[in-house]
Amino acid sequence: MSSSASLQLDGRAFIHGQRCAALSGQTFDDISPVDGRIICQVADGDAPDIDAAVAAARRAFNDRRWAGQAPAQRKKIMLQWADLIAAHADELALMETLDMGKPVRYAKSVDVRSTVNCIRWYAEACDKVYDEIAPTGDAALALITREALGVVGVIVPWNYPMIMAAWKLGPALASGNSVVLKPSEKSPLTALRLAELAVQAGLPEGVFNVVPGTGPKAGTPLALHMDVDCIAFTGSTRVGKQIHVMAGQSNLKRAWTELGGKSPNIVFADCPDLQAAVDAAASAMFFNQGQSCNAPSRLLLQDGIYDQFVERLQQRLQDYQPADPRLPETTMGALVDNIQLQTVMGYIQSGLEQGAQLLGGGQQALQNSGGFYVEPTVFAGVSPSMRIAREEIFGPVLGVFRFTDAQQAVSMANDSSYGLNAGVWTADINKAHTVARMLRVGTVHVNSYDEDDITVPFGGFKQSGIGRDKSLHAFDKYTELKTTWIKLRTVL
Ligand code: NAD
Repeated sequence: MSSSASLQLDGRAFIHGQRCAALSGQTFDDISPVDGRIICQVADGDAPDIDAAVAAARRAFNDRRWAGQAPAQRKKIMLQWADLIAAHADELALMETLDMGKPVRYAKSVDVRSTVNCIRWYAEACDKVYDEIAPTGDAALALITREALGVVGVIVPWNYPMIMAAWKLGPALASGNSVVLKPSEKSPLTALRLAELAVQAGLPEGVFNVVPGTGPKAGTPLALHMDVDCIAFTGSTRVGKQIHVMAGQSNLKRAWTELGGKSPNIVFADCPDLQAAVDAAASAMFFNQGQSCNAPSRLLLQDGIYDQFVERLQQRLQDYQPADPRLPETTMGALVDNIQLQTVMGYIQSGLEQGAQLLGGGQQALQNSGGFYVEPTVFAGVSPSMRIAREEIFGPVLGVFRFTDAQQAVSMANDSSYGLNAGVWTADINKAHTVARMLRVGTVHVNSYDEDDITVPFGGFKQSGIGRDKSLHAFDKYTELKTTWIKLRTVL
């Protein structure tokens, strides 16, 4: 296991296979949410750094040093990269914990593991996905091929820094693109390390570049860049809308946005395993300190089980008490920074002011640590018009609602501008299927929540975004379809 003292933290950019300072020479402080200390100086990238990274990526794409390699060779290099990430699991996990505050046990068992799995899965896809021949008849041979877009700009958030990057890097690189990645300014370190490991594994220089920096200074020039063919964004709905505007204002680059959520979790009175539903409601909500786009932050309980469910849920809160995320037994770490802490505390205050009933939590925790911790918080008596019912809080705050029948549950669940995930708990397969079909969301979990696999697409309806990460469908984002129509003459 790496220790904080032995960890090498390097915040310089990574362009054309080399570490480099920002061209301006500017840096910003990387503050650890674990204890509020500065852990590293990070290159404060802006437009000239983005220009340099895009130029490196363009050169790499145009000379086909990556796109021109046989798919089996691309597979081999990506598998070596995944192996190297796995070999550095302890280092990467601790780096992630120090950078954004999640418990180190999950940084390793979830973030590193999922990243490795994702890169391996897309590596394997390199030489297993076939193109098509259209049924045109004997007079023509019409090929439908998928071709790499060119230079892909990737902008990701801080909640799952490695996984969010891997969901885009896997399919973008497997299909032969070059990438310029801008990680969140709140969690830049693991992305930079992933790029170093990629080159170590044999990825040609310039194919994968990373420019750290803020959204306005580094993200905007990437989204507006005239030589970037696609922008793949994960983050808030507010910034996601700007990304589509910037794509339209510049070169009509392809824009894909994976955005926020306010996901409903519906528990019917005939739930087959109430304790499993209680456990999942708590674990999916409080995992990652509630900073998950698909967190089931609206819990809808049917009349018959309401009291019993709430009582059991309150008992589970003790399992999610904030503690130092570097300790192996910790289940709930720190929020990413003081801004997020203040945002979450503001929502808790608004819940109290608007008349919701606090069932547990509600306080800042571990203030003497210097870090940014909040107790797992549950509100009952939440009405649909309250801010805590409508807005994405992105912290450990759960709202509980009561419903009478399936019709009401569906209309409450769909009463949101978001449409990312939902849960449905019932023993009745007909009810489960009917309700699942009526929910306007990208993923419905039945008798579970947050079970996951790289084989299924992830993304949202409505203002939760446009496009899908994961699965073979993700290739749609990073490839153009080309038709090659070959006219034939019958010779026999
Ligand atoms: P954010 O939108 O503030 O930032 C996301 C990224 O965009 C960061 O890298 C940031 O620097 C950059 N950015 C900010 N302003 C920009 C601008 N003007 N131009 C270009 N880039 C800019 O989001 P966040 O706070 O980092 O992340 C939390 C959000 O991400 C939540 O809303 C969460 O639901 C969402 N999220 C969605 C998914 C999904 O798959 N749907 C997954 C994880 C997180």
